[in-house]
Amino acid sequence: MFLKSLVLRGFKTFADKTVFEFEPNGLTAIVGPNGCGKSNTVDAFRFILGEGSLSEIRVKELSDIIFAGTQTKKPLSMGEVAITFDNSDHALPIDFSEVSIRRRTFRDGASDFLINNNSCRLKDIRDLFLDAGISEDSLSIIGQGKVDSILSSQPEERRQVFEEVAGIKKYKQRKEEAEKKLILAEQNLLRICDLKNEIGENLSVLEEQSKAAEEYLALKESFRSLEIGISKKQVAVLLEKSGLLKEEIERFEKSEDERLKKEKIVGAEKHSLKEKIKTLDLELENARIKLETLREKAETERFAAMMEKENRLRDLKEAERFLAFEIGQLKNTNGTIDAKLLELRKKTERAGVEAMDILPELKEFVALSEKLFSISRSLIKGLHQKEIEDHSKSSRLLDILNAEIVEFTEQKQNNENALRQKEAEMKAAAEKLNAEQPSPPLVNLAIQEEQAKLQEKIVELKKEKEQCADNIEFLESRGETPEEAAAREFHLKNKLLLAKTEGELSQVTERIFAEYNLTVSDLMQIETEIPNVGAAKKETLRLKSRMLELEPVNLIAIEEYKQSTGRFRLINEQYEDLNSARENLKGLIAELDLKAREEFLRKMEIISAHFKQIFTELFPGGEAKIELALSENSNPLEAGIEISTCPGGRKWLPLQALSGGERALTAIAILFAFLKTNPSPFCILDEVDAPLDDANIDRFTKYLKEMAKVTQMMIITHNKHTMKAADTIYGITMEEAGVSKLLSMKMNKLAAETVA
Ligand code: ATP
Repeated sequence: MFLKSLVLRGFKTFADKTVFEFEPNGLTAIVGPNGCGKSNTVDAFRFILGEGSLSEIRVKELSDIIFAGTQTKKPLSMGEVAITFDNSDHALPIDFSEVSIRRRTFRDGASDFLINNNSCRLKDIRDLFLDAGISEDSLSIIGQGKVDSILSSQPEERRQVFEEVAGIKKYKQRKEEAEKKLILAEQNLLRICDLKNEIGENLSVLEEQSKAAEEYLALKESFRSLEIGISKKQVAVLLEKSGLLKEEIERFEKSEDERLKKEKIVGAEKHSLKEKIKTLDLELENARIKLETLREKAETERFAAMMEKENRLRDLKEAERFLAFEIGQLKNTNGTIDAKLLELRKKTERAGVEAMDILPELKEFVALSEKLFSISRSLIKGLHQKEIEDHSKSSRLLDILNAEIVEFTEQKQNNENALRQKEAEMKAAAEKLNAEQPSPPLVNLAIQEEQAKLQEKIVELKKEKEQCADNIEFLESRGETPEEAAAREFHLKNKLLLAKTEGELSQVTERIFAEYNLTVSDLMQIETEIPNVGAAKKETLRLKSRMLELEPVNLIAIEEYKQSTGRFRLINEQYEDLNSARENLKGLIAELDLKAREEFLRKMEIISAHFKQIFTELFPGGEAKIELALSENSNPLEAGIEISTCPGGRKWLPLQALSGGERALTAIAILFAFLKTNPSPFCILDEVDAPLDDANIDRFTKYLKEMAKVTQMMIITHNKHTMKAADTIYGITMEEAGVSKLLSMKMNKLAAETVA
């Protein structure tokens, strides 16, 4: 395996694509004036070999490796380095005879890595080189810094270089890591111990609380189950009871409905009877009124008839009386007339004598006649008037008296006739009167018939009314029977009992729902059966009292105890793990110590041997040795590294006692010893020859050329002797300020000298 080429583009001063080609063997010198970009080439090697430290490639940020631009050239956005190896010997563990590795960085911070144009990770590149022996330990790049470290007066710094070469850095690093882990483990152990103690203390309290809580919950569960069982039984009993009561109530209500229906019918019947009675009353009243009217009418008619008869009778009687009076008067008149006639006749007889004397008696007679006879008044009056008139006529008085006697006789006759007539009339009147004897008053037959009918009707109506009243009485007399009353009472009791039962039921169900969120149907589906409610109730009391004893209970203690136990177990496991990790780490540290020590001592021996040999070549006749300043039981890894030299013909001197050039060459001898101990396919030396004088340069280049036979050697140098020794020289110039340019691949040595 050997390095074939290095290509730079946009890397630091190498703005344009620049290609370095290398021969498999031999020494290549890279030359050029200060600041032309020689060390930038070394940086490019470091960059492509996977250097992670920014200071090693002399930048602050990775993007600083990208060409930053000049006054005439614009900055670039990407910096790229590619390196190609001939891998015919497959030193690089990859199935290609040529391996090209490319690393690019972009200004935005992005990077990419390619192995044979395939993207890969930086780690892949590092691993690839590591497997080929190109690593930090292998000293592929030796800069001035390394020389300075070897020459350092600080034993720590010097030992670090040796440790790197001895390859114990990795042990140290691993040990450091293990130690850090150990410290961490110790700290964690302490923390966990504290935690373990804390949880442990808490755990016993929690255990007690948890047990009490568990017992409490078990009691509560038993209590709940008993309560549910009791409630279930109670509910069942109450439901059955209420069911029976409802049936009973329903039965009663049905019969009550029937009864009410009947009662309604009876009521209706009663009502209609009452209505009928009212109607009958009305009819009766009407009939009575009618009857009364008829009666009044009859009475009126009878009274009128009676009055008429009475009047007639009265009239008859009056007439009779008048007739009797008249008759009496006529009789009287007749008697008077008779007396008169008698007197007249006597007077007549004495006619002439005493004719004149009769006048006062006649006047008396006329007055009497006027008083007694109204009927014959005129007659008598006329007569008397005439007598009175004729009296004066004395002579003819007798005649007149005779005439008067005739007249009186006639008159008497007339009176007699009138009397007879009157008496006949009287008889007729008496007969009539007799015939008019009072008889029962006649009543209108039609009225009578009508009255009779009405009375009949009234009787019927009364009967009917009585019948209705009897019916009503009968209906009303049909009151509640004692059985019915008992049934009603029983029904009321049942209703009260049902209300009470339902009240009790809702009490139980509400309580069960409130306490256990169970509905009645939930409750009934629960399989718990309580054989003896009394005993169960007793048990609930016992449970309750035990629960009260346990209260207050920390229920979350159960979970907390579980969690704490889990946590304690976990912490204990962690404690155990940490403990064993600590032990393992301790073991690992001891093992790493041992390995590092062994490896360090082994490598130090090899380095020491190579150094002795190289020193002798560089300082002919001289001797040198590397020793560890070890005292008894001291740790070689902590021991100082002492470098003693005995340049030809001189005594043993410590490194510090040598001249600058001698010290530098001794350091180079050590670096070469390192390179021999850990061979690398190539090695780049960055101006390590600077402090050497010509004599030392010669010895140095001579040895370098020897080394170049095994390892591709590239040296950046300003030294003409070194240039002369080189097989190939690359000259770098800056024709354009700030932009590196490779002059030619191979220059003749004279040209090289010119460039230098
Ligand atoms: P000497 O002989 O003095 O050691 P040299 O040839 O080794 O010099 P380098 O150290 O390689 O020079 O180059 C340093 C130059 O590179 C500096 O001038 C620096 O400004 C320039 N440089 C570094 N990084 C960049 C960059 N990203 N872009 C442009 N120029 C850069």
